[in-house]
Amino acid sequence: MNIILLGPPGAGKGTQARRLVAGRDMIQLSTGDMLREARTSGTEMGKRVADVMDRGELVTDEIVIGLIREKLTSGDSKGGYIFDGFPRTLAQADALGNLMSELNEVLDAVIEMRVDDDALVARITARSTCASCGEVYNDVTKPIPADGKCSNCGGTEFTRRADDNEESLRTRLLAYYKQTSPLIGYYYAKGDLKSVDGLAEIDAVASDIQDALG
Ligand code: ADP
Ligand code: ZN
Repeated sequence: MNIILLGPPGAGKGTQARRLVAGRDMIQLSTGDMLREARTSGTEMGKRVADVMDRGELVTDEIVIGLIREKLTSGDSKGGYIFDGFPRTLAQADALGNLMSELNEVLDAVIEMRVDDDALVARITARSTCASCGEVYNDVTKPIPADGKCSNCGGTEFTRRADDNEESLRTRLLAYYKQTSPLIGYYYAKGDLKSVDGLAEIDAVASDIQDALG
């Protein structure tokens, strides 16, 4: 099964993707994570995208399509792919469609996670991540355990993303509405779209996604 998680920044795509990886042996392909990795490891590409990312703008289609192509053409697809944060433009959606047909893969579903803007701002400004395993915490709804240890891996270092501030969030939301939200219509027209309420609790969203996938 190959699926896309579609929704604005802070909708919970990463959190749900991690659940699907654990439960269905799927592979999470997050272009945001790949780009952050490129920055951390200091590659040429990582340096080129840093400012754009921190401002909250989209990096070029060419770069992210290249990253996805590389992942899809190397290695085994296990229980299928979860695309998280990709595609984000119509050009990326077309490129993904072409890649999938080249590889004789099908896109089974596109899950739209609906969340309102106020909730997004609140979620994102409260967000932190375990530096060793990537588990996502929220100061209000899912605080770091009182002993200061990640409940998933025991790690003690937590980071906040450079683009999780109000100004860059505003740019990310604008980019979402302008460039990414047209994909809702695009996949609706193809008959692939399913919507879930991203404001529900993590477990409830997970079970709505399970139902949507059948
Ligand atoms: P968010 O939590 O805002 O959804 P991501 O972790 O998915 O963030 O992405 C962080 C940043 O990486 C984006 O704001 C953008 O600059 C860049 N990025 C990630 N995926 C893409 C993509 N598919 N196309 C263009 N830029 C991307
Ligand atoms: Zn951890």
